[in-house]
Amino acid sequence: MSQADRQSNNVDITQGKSASASVFESAEKHFDDAAKVLKLTMNQIATVKKPRRSVIVNLPVRMDDGTIHVFEGFRVLHNKARGPGKGGIRFHPDVSLDEVQTLAFWMTFKCAVVGIPMGGAKGGVICDPGKMSDRELENLTRRYVAELFEVLGPDVDIPAPDVGTNARVMGWIMDTYSMQVHRHTPSVVTGKAIELEGSAGRDGATGRGLLYCVRRWAGYPAKQLHGLTVAVQGFGNVGSWSARLLSEDGCRIMGLSDISGAYVSKDSGIDIGAAQEYAKKHKSLDGFERSGNVTKLKHPKEILEMEVDVLVPAALENQITHQNAGKVKARLVAEGANGPTTYDADRLLAERGITVIPDILCNAGGVSVSYLETVQNRMGYYWNEERVNYDLEEIMNRAFDTVRDTATKYEITMRKAAYVVGIQRVVTSSEFRGLYA
Ligand code: NAD
Repeated sequence: MSQADRQSNNVDITQGKSASASVFESAEKHFDDAAKVLKLTMNQIATVKKPRRSVIVNLPVRMDDGTIHVFEGFRVLHNKARGPGKGGIRFHPDVSLDEVQTLAFWMTFKCAVVGIPMGGAKGGVICDPGKMSDRELENLTRRYVAELFEVLGPDVDIPAPDVGTNARVMGWIMDTYSMQVHRHTPSVVTGKAIELEGSAGRDGATGRGLLYCVRRWAGYPAKQLHGLTVAVQGFGNVGSWSARLLSEDGCRIMGLSDISGAYVSKDSGIDIGAAQEYAKKHKSLDGFERSGNVTKLKHPKEILEMEVDVLVPAALENQITHQNAGKVKARLVAEGANGPTTYDADRLLAERGITVIPDILCNAGGVSVSYLETVQNRMGYYWNEERVNYDLEEIMNRAFDTVRDTATKYEITMRKAAYVVGIQRVVTSSEFRGLYA
């Protein structure tokens, strides 16, 4: 397998183990560190660490050429102490049970950090949506819901979009579930189109939550973001919204990257509107250097080492590793992606005095607005975007302040503090519930 193939297959070539295995190890180590700060007992750890349910399904789907292909899919409910499971569904060739379990684990503590009454869950199907027709994707999605019908539901486990899935897929989920229960049930899934009782503001919510975190870090509104320089890795939902909103707030976006490469500004910053238009038209930033305002870096990962104030990794896991953490020059790493920094790299960044706003806080805007979507679905009454953004800002600011105060209290990093806050809340809810026997 070539290096390019290994990278595209999401294999961590720096450590010779699969990316999903190493993110799981990182997540466990962070959990154990926080458990020590909280002095948790073995009983408490046992109650909240392991997933409560992992389901594997084989999904026979009729393809356009008449053949039947059997896809492997997963749904993991990590914890339900604080509410029904909540978490996206990933359609990607590299999905594995390990990866889905790690993502579900993060969802539990992410929901707890932002204080929403939901547990942690995640799903995935091993498939390549880019190579499937709409009909094949619809058949796969409906079969996934039919096979997992008993473990999904508004009071059980509520899916949402993730890498490879979108509002269209969420619509098929809502329709399949509603047909099965013979009842209109929009609250079974979030991230739906506005026309299908989705929430205003959901599309940009993760980037907006990240913006609120960066503002809080910078002491906003006392200190404006005006003039801060930023580099963003990944230009999908999270990366493009983060870049756009930070730029609207006065930041200068000096570098952008996606799967096609990394592009850096030749002058005072990249025009994000132009980059978005280009990416929409060409389906990626490939060739964007010909627009005149930017040059393309020879090594795309060098975007992580740019001389900027704020670095936003918003693409994949395991991007900042022990190999490049020493070269990061940003003062702040605002994690848009899940698990972009390995455990060892996180320690190196801390030693170098670089602040990291960790994923389970920094990218929690998406799940927060998913929660607001569920609330609206249950009421059957819909807010405008201004109202949704207002609530999101309240949620993010409160969570940021709690994590920052916890970091100060225990003299620990924001990452460790976020785990401390999340784990403490899940443990407390579990203890109030007690064990059903
Ligand atoms: P997406 O599929 O919309 O975008 C991913 C982007 O990363 C694309 O621009 C792609 O070209 C780019 N990319 C892929 N490989 C790359 C590489 N090697 N180098 C640079 N760029 C690369 O996905 P998304 O929804 O934006 O999610 C990105 C990350 O954020 C994931 O880790 C996801 O789990 C996490 N996340 C997403 C949300 C959400 O609301 N979408 C919420 C929380 C966390």
